[in-house]
Amino acid sequence: MPEKNYLEYLKKVTLQITGDIFSETASVQDYVDNLINYFTNIIYSMPNNVYWLDKNCVLRGGNDNLAKQLNFKSGAELVGLTYEQMAQAANLPTQAFEPFRITEVEVMKTGVPSIDKEEPPIKADGKVFYYLSNKTPLRNKKGEIIGVVGISTNITKLKETESALQIALEKAKAANKAKTEFIMNMSHDLRTPLAGIIGLSSLQTDDATSAREQQYGEWIHSAGEQLLELLNSVIEVTAAEHQIESIKKENINLQQFAKELHALMQPAVVAKGLEFQIKLDTHLPIVITDRIKLKRILLNLLSNAVKFTKKGKISLEINRLMKKNDEAKIEILIADTGIGIAKDKIDKIFDRFYRAHPSYKAEYTGYGIGLFLVKKATKLLDGKIKVFSEEGKGSCFSLEFIFPIFHGSIDEISHPGIEHPMESLGLEKIKGAVLVAEDNAVVLFAVKSILTKLGYEIIAVTEGKAALHALQTQSFVWALLDIGLPDLEGTEIVKQYRQWEQENKKSHLPIFALTAHAEETIKDKCKDVGFDHVLKKPFTEPDIQIIKQFMENKE
Ligand code: ADP
Repeated sequence: MPEKNYLEYLKKVTLQITGDIFSETASVQDYVDNLINYFTNIIYSMPNNVYWLDKNCVLRGGNDNLAKQLNFKSGAELVGLTYEQMAQAANLPTQAFEPFRITEVEVMKTGVPSIDKEEPPIKADGKVFYYLSNKTPLRNKKGEIIGVVGISTNITKLKETESALQIALEKAKAANKAKTEFIMNMSHDLRTPLAGIIGLSSLQTDDATSAREQQYGEWIHSAGEQLLELLNSVIEVTAAEHQIESIKKENINLQQFAKELHALMQPAVVAKGLEFQIKLDTHLPIVITDRIKLKRILLNLLSNAVKFTKKGKISLEINRLMKKNDEAKIEILIADTGIGIAKDKIDKIFDRFYRAHPSYKAEYTGYGIGLFLVKKATKLLDGKIKVFSEEGKGSCFSLEFIFPIFHGSIDEISHPGIEHPMESLGLEKIKGAVLVAEDNAVVLFAVKSILTKLGYEIIAVTEGKAALHALQTQSFVWALLDIGLPDLEGTEIVKQYRQWEQENKKSHLPIFALTAHAEETIKDKCKDVGFDHVLKKPFTEPDIQIIKQFMENKE
């Protein structure tokens, strides 16, 4: 190209790249120098660390930022340096940049860029520096790899923040764990005296000689029950938060199940003058799921339906939406003709402690825990919950589950827990001597009174060693042991007794644990050592039903 045309070409290129023509009188050389200067300036003044190396990992250049970090004045001074020389210049160990070099060799060998790679930390002057790098191969016109270009960002501040956050998170977790332990312990300590209040007030009501005395006894009893329910809810929320709940699968006859719920809800429904409708699909299968959790979900929803309905009806409907060989889609609807929920509040009702109708008028009491637990339990059973509601007209909660189907014989279906009235318990069969070991005098008195009333002969002890001695020397139909006895723990007594029982070829004595602890782990521990079942304080008359079931299974 003739020089004049070349000059014109350079002018055009310069204008295109820089937006300026530099100078009307400039020579070709001036233009070339100007363009080189322009590009090197861009590279030298780039933020982060920019560098490029030849095939031997010798630096062909870098920006000023990098140069300053390595104690050089400008990027130009870096040309020709090896990583070892750079490390020496920066007073770093000679091999400090070795990890950088390894990646660069790999990028040049494979031609694959290395993206967002966190370099191993670099230690200097008692400080630690972290870099995040991107490296890509440099190619000539023919496409051959002739080197590598890299950009490294100093992420030390980010890493420090991250580790501070990690420490804060650990601390928060520890504090949360301490809170849970505190709640669990407190609940234990509260349950024991409460068990006494509930048990004794019930006895006092029975023995009352005037209507007034009886009324006071009933009030104390129901206040105690309410307090216990609140305590249980607090424990459930704590347990749900920590997901320490496990699923226990049982076969459930949904028809039967709905009837049990009906029987349980009927007194509250009648007391409010409401109607309770039940509609059951005739094709309901026997499903396999966690009975207690499903019951808790439905009882919570039914109780709310009753609570928030002044007149009209509540209803429970169960439908089979779909059935395959091994599973069925079940829909459960719980509806009411009550006060309904405002549109803007509906999204919040499943939040912990949220109440759409606060009790400032003392009309609707509650703690805003029920639906939170319902949602958690539904999720645990892989179900879905939805709510449809209109203020002043009523609400409908809809649940959908996919349950495995039970194909076995009807006799194998597990029996419901404790809903039967006392008349049907058939207690005559199991009367006899019972050992009760309990160190709290109030609880012992309440338990003794209940059992005596039911016709048992009670042998009561307040210490562990005495309990073990009694078990080995006297004959009982069953035994009830508090697990927290002062000298010898209930678990230890049973462990020793079971061993003795085996060595002396005695038949299995049903032993029940009585505890104020709420955790599932305590239950497991009790069962592991040889307790037949764990009963929660307060010991009430329906606990006899559980005992009876064990006695029957034993026969
Ligand atoms: P609680 O009933 O103890 O307040 P829940 O968590 O069970 O707590 O319910 C949260 C809130 O949702 C209730 O306070 C009430 O405002 C609203 N709610 C729940 N069920 C119904 C219902 N069937 N009808 C009207 N409002 C309801």
